[in-house]
Amino acid sequence: MSLAIESLLIHGGIDGDETTGAVNVPVYQTSTYKQDGLGKDRGWEYSRTGNPTRAALEKLVADLEHGQYGLAFASGLAAINTVLSLFKSGDKLVVSDNIYGGTFRILDNVFKNFGITYEIVNTSDLDKVEAAITDEVKAVYIETPANPLLTVTDIEAVSKIAKKKDKFVIVDNTFLTPYLQRPLTLGADIVIHSGTKYLGGHSDTISGFVVVNDKKLADRLYYLQNAIGGVLAPWDSFLVIRGIKTLGVRMDRHVENAVKIAEWLNNSKYVSKVYYPGLKSDPGYEIQKKQADGPGAMISFVLDEKYDYKVFFEKLKLVTLAESLGGVESLACHPASMTHAAIPAEVRKKVGIVDELIRLSVGIENAHDLIADLEQAIKASAK
Ligand SMILES: *Cc1c(COP(=O)(O)O)cnc(C)c1O
Repeated sequence: MSLAIESLLIHGGIDGDETTGAVNVPVYQTSTYKQDGLGKDRGWEYSRTGNPTRAALEKLVADLEHGQYGLAFASGLAAINTVLSLFKSGDKLVVSDNIYGGTFRILDNVFKNFGITYEIVNTSDLDKVEAAITDEVKAVYIETPANPLLTVTDIEAVSKIAKKKDKFVIVDNTFLTPYLQRPLTLGADIVIHSGTKYLGGHSDTISGFVVVNDKKLADRLYYLQNAIGGVLAPWDSFLVIRGIKTLGVRMDRHVENAVKIAEWLNNSKYVSKVYYPGLKSDPGYEIQKKQADGPGAMISFVLDEKYDYKVFFEKLKLVTLAESLGGVESLACHPASMTHAAIPAEVRKKVGIVDELIRLSVGIENAHDLIADLEQAIKASAK
């Protein structure tokens, strides 16, 4: 039976426990497994290689992304590390111009040392993507909406360009989750997640995922997952399964609140710019509507110069100043000094990550309470 995503969230992957009838997948807190004789294991050997709780979650995330193969990692960056390990010295990647700061860091300070280079391109400009795909390029790596300016890239169009030249397309789908966007169905080859964010959803677990459809690619990734070893622990796997069950209802509320807040900001005199692909005035609005089932709940805005952004952060009462995103609670962050500090100042300025830029991860509290808190903090920060 083919299930809609709301049902898959609860019954996808491995549904409960066959042996006992428990409605939840048990936490198999074990490092190793008894073998019945030499070469006679029961499908499990060692928990870095495979663990039933992790396997249930891997299958679940694969199902949600309409993929065949899922892999769970100890963090989003462990997932990214494993995907980047597919490449070798001399290979090059074309990368979206505003990406997660940690992704930039691992490319620039780790993989570059191994001879894997990258070129930063505005991937919402298809001509630029096409021009950047030279012979040594092996993959296009995109985030959409991208972090922190919420720039939208047309996944289907980029995939068509990349396929023509026989290159991989990798999409970090953290901001929207498979509930809102499924890149494999749009032509991407590899989907990456920081499960730390919406999938887990409660700001209590660090995790990462990779999903693919191609068997050869999956075999290589499973090999690398085991060889590198950054796997997700059984207890954390259980927590993410638990989180995913409510992903649908959470995302509905996240998006509903974000639309209200973005419209309020956009109509206010407090800001000079709002970045949110759910606003009709946003340049990414049409493509976002075409390729996803919602605009997500990340909003960035530039505070008007009449207000002091440092004071604004201090005056927030309900919204918490913190790194991360995607939890039930609303968070505010300062990309220039927090999430994107690893990006050199001149690159930041060039792409629009100015000091007055504020990023909101809109939670599932009451929207009026959130707006009231933002408004009082902005007013209190008047210069
Ligand atoms: C947080 C994040 C990551 C990194 O994930 P961790 O779980 O923190 O390692 C990667 N991509 C995006 C878009 C993120 O928000």
